[in-house]
Parts: sequence; structure tokens; C-alpha cells
Amino acid sequence: MALVVQKYGGSSVADASCIKRVAQRIVATKKGNDVVVIVSAMGDTTDELLDLAEQVSPLPPARELDMLLTSGERISMALLAMAIANLGHEARSFTGSQAGVITDSTHGKARIIDVTPSRIREAIDQGHIAIVAGFQGVSQDTKDITTLGRGGSDTTAVALAAALEADVCEIYTDVDGVFTADPRIVPAARKIPKISYDEMMEMAACGAKILHLRCVEYARRFNLPIHVRSSFSTKEGTWVVADPYNEGTEMEQPIISGVAHDRSEAKITVVGVPDKVGEAATIFKTLADAEINIDMIVQNVSAAATGRTDISFTLPTADSQTALAALKKIQPQIGFESLLFDDQIGKVSLVGAGMRSHPGVTATFFAALADAGVNIEMISTSEIRISVVVGQDGVDAAVAAAHRAFDLDADQVEAVVYGGTGR
Ligand code: ASP
Ligand code: MG
Repeated sequence: MALVVQKYGGSSVADASCIKRVAQRIVATKKGNDVVVIVSAMGDTTDELLDLAEQVSPLPPARELDMLLTSGERISMALLAMAIANLGHEARSFTGSQAGVITDSTHGKARIIDVTPSRIREAIDQGHIAIVAGFQGVSQDTKDITTLGRGGSDTTAVALAAALEADVCEIYTDVDGVFTADPRIVPAARKIPKISYDEMMEMAACGAKILHLRCVEYARRFNLPIHVRSSFSTKEGTWVVADPYNEGTEMEQPIISGVAHDRSEAKITVVGVPDKVGEAATIFKTLADAEINIDMIVQNVSAAATGRTDISFTLPTADSQTALAALKKIQPQIGFESLLFDDQIGKVSLVGAGMRSHPGVTATFFAALADAGVNIEMISTSEIRISVVVGQDGVDAAVAAAHRAFDLDADQVEAVVYGGTGR
């Protein structure tokens, strides 16, 4: 018998009727398979809980915030277990801690360090359907409840699937799979039938919200196939696997697999940094000590007359106040002139393993942006990705232009967005 791990996102369990529909789908899968289910909080519950926390405290203690947020998943897991019981099947719900999801103690973005799912095994062996609250675990040393960061239920699902040696991890969402661009921006986006872990990681890191980056990293490490599909239809979705272009029958490798975008970053420019050995090291050490993840970096050529240079970098907008404060502290030591801050930016990324062997991808991309009247502020590349930072109001146009330039537009609209508020 196969072991299928299924994860249902917030929009798939948004209300009672959604939960009943998902229960039916789970019961159908149970005919012939063992099933373990991971759930997210209903609809926008997590955001609503965050709003609530903000109303009682501008800076809620991280431990208590995690305690609060994990309650969202506990609501959906219990309701789902009830709905399944109502269909005459045995279901048991478990918190992350009960399911053996052991993490470090970093509240709000804890990392899974071990999964010991003995209670889940037991439930499966007894023929039960196990329902597990996503996005949460328990800290190994403090024993406090932790959360894995927004969208973390995907990671719970993959981590449990790996620990249980499941045959597949199905991630259910409100679209039919991974698309060549966000269908909300590009209605002609196409569903990608298969994509490699590497490309999916780049897409996730560049803002494609469909899968959590860490979930894909985890799946790659354990070579666990992920099937991303809609809980609102029975269509085949997107398979995320090691080598999609080399399995016999298969598709030719596209040059570009997809266009991702991200509006969650901001840009800081450190103006007039003395062009001396070690200054950049000091700046980025300061940011690292403040636990800030830097994305793109650009250093200008220093002006000969002044011997000074500007360094710009992007970072999550949410971390920008912390970063600015940390940099202000070292201003006297480094002697830079000022700090500029811009949160009206967006990042547009072209991802595709095929670009390794095709010259001219950058030229086509930049020409498409120019034709669309979009100015490029920063550029960064990897072997299989080209990203640009543009003004926030140019993001939609840039995504659409790139999508068209690489012939990704479908003849007929394929993408259906079934639910969710996109919040
Ligand atoms: N409910 C959490 C969130 O919205 C976790 C998840 O949905 O994966 O971030
Ligand atoms: Mg959610």
C-alpha cells in the first residue's frame, strides 16, 4: 500500500463546506492508500491572528506570538478530523509537537532539526487517517512551541513525508499547479507539468508563493517527489522532481520555465562609503549580526575625485528598520555619508535550466523590459536565473513582457484561480 502525504492550504479549508469537501477527497484517497494529512489555518486566519496581536501590543513577545499563531492550524485539524469521522472513517489530529516535529528555538522562523513521528506511525498502523497541524513544532531545548515562518505548512508536509518515507507529497492549493507566471498577473500563464527541484527553488526564492523555499530544499535533500495540485479539481498538477527532462518519454527542456516576481523587498543604499579595504565587510557583518538576509548587492565604481562609492542592497522590507538602525550605529566608524531607503521596488526573475546552454537570454529579457518601458535598477544572476529590480509600478508590465518574449503565453487561458484572497 502506498503512503500518500497530502497538505491542504488555507484556501482549501477556508470554511465548513471546504473542509467537508477536503474530507471527502481524503476518504477517497484512503481507499487503497495510507494517508497522512497536513493542514494550514483556515483562510486568512493567520493574518487575522497577527492583526489581533498587533492590536494588543506593538511588539508581541515572539514566544506568545507563536503560541497564538499555532492555534490557527489546531482549529482546522480538529474540524477536518471531525468531518472525516462524520464520513465514517477514523481520523486523529495531532499538533506539530505531538507529531514529533522538533525544531530549534528561533520563534517565528524555526528550523526543523528532527522529525520523530512515532505517534503518526502508530495511527497509520491502526488504519487511522492522521491529521497534522502544519507550520509548527516544538523546540528541542526550550520545549516551547515554535512556528516555521509564513507558508511553513509545506515544509511540515515534506518533512513528515520524508520521515515516514512516503511515496509522494501532494500539496493542495487554489490553482492547478505551478504556472509559468502568476495567473493573477498573466492570464495566459501555462501550467508547468514537471519542474526540477533546482528551478523550483529559484522560483520559490524569487517570490513564487506556490511552494515554500525550504520545503523544496527539503524535498530535494530526500529526493521526495512533490505533486502540486488543486483541491478544487482532479486535474494532474505540477510534479517537482530531480530530473524532469531525462525520464524517457519526456518533454524537451524549455529555455525558460517561468517568470517569478516579488514585491516584498526594499532597497537600501549606503551613500559615500570610503573606498577602502574592509568597509564592505564591516557593513555586511553588521547586517549579518542583526540576522538580516541580504538578497542582491550592487557596488558602484568609486568616483576618482572623492575616493568614495555607493553600495546598494535589497532585503525583506520587514527587516528594513532593523537594518537602517544597525547601519546608523556604525556610521561614525565607517564614515559613509548617508542612507537611502526605497520600498517601492519589485523583483522580476526569469528561471530556467535551459538558459545554461542558450546564449542571448539576457538580451531578449532586457529588450522586452525596454519595450515595455520598464527601467532596470539592479541585476543579479545565477546559473539558471536572471533577476532584475524595477520600480514597483513596473512589476506587472515586466512580468507580462518577459512571459511574452519567451513564448510562454498559452493560446487559451488555462489558469483557473479557484479560491483564496491572495492575501
Ligand atoms: N497558516 C500559516 C500561514 O499562513 C502557515 C501556512 O499556511 O502554511 O503562513
Ligand atoms: Mg495560510
